[in-house]
Amino acid sequence: MTLFDQPGLVVYRAHLETARELWLASRSPAPSRRVSGDEIASAVGVAKLIAWASLCEDCLALDSGLDREQVVATLQRIAVTMLILDAAGTCDACRQETVVYRFA
Ligand SMILES: [Zn+2]
Repeated sequence: MTLFDQPGLVVYRAHLETARELWLASRSPAPSRRVSGDEIASAVGVAKLIAWASLCEDCLALDSGLDREQVVATLQRIAVTMLILDAAGTCDACRQETVVYRFA
């Protein structure tokens, strides 16, 4: 039996290893997700649409070629860096009273 086979030391070494891993994890930056070219193209397309008009999700989907889930995800992506107003109003395209989106 060696010194390191003693149960207390094995547990101690495990604690040290865990503490080291936690320390290393705390020092490394969070992995950033790469934004795909499609996501950028979608964001640019939607941003162009709401730059000059208040539009509902349906019209944004129709005009951008995205489905509604993609429109919402894209709006959320844009809203990280730019202020988007979402409020009840009249869509400039379909004239429906609904939630419309436009840049502030
Ligand atoms: Zn509309």
